[in-house]
Amino acid sequence: MEDCLFCKIIDGTIPSKKVYEDDLCLAFNDQKPLAPTHILVVPKKHLASAVEITDDDAMLIGHIFGVISLLTQIFGVSDGFRVVTNCGAKAGQTVQHLHFHVLAGKELGSFN
Ligand code: 5GP
Ligand code: ZN
Repeated sequence: MEDCLFCKIIDGTIPSKKVYEDDLCLAFNDQKPLAPTHILVVPKKHLASAVEITDDDAMLIGHIFGVISLLTQIFGVSDGFRVVTNCGAKAGQTVQHLHFHVLAGKELGSFN
């Protein structure tokens, strides 16, 4: 997808601090971390946000959550982490390519 920041990170046009990559997804450190561990996990398939996920993506999304679980174990935060995907400008989405924030390493508080 032209002019998509995360597609450019996926194809290497824009550099990132990668922590994991396979055929389906890429994980890299957020450039403005909100917690000591702040990883973004993105599918290589361009989906603008969670609103574009369909049943055809079931395997992909399941795989991404398996990768998230693996990463939390590698980073030693599997006892407490948060996964967030902002969907739409009203929810704070700024990059229009589906991504999952993995936040950990500090007290995250509870959602109300
Ligand atoms: P959103 O606000 O869309 O949920 O999250 C986008 C995230 O992407 C933000 O946390 C922001 O810091 C991160 N981000 C934006 N541009 C870049 C970039 O060029 N490199 C990296 N590593 N993260 C980025
Ligand atoms: Zn994209």
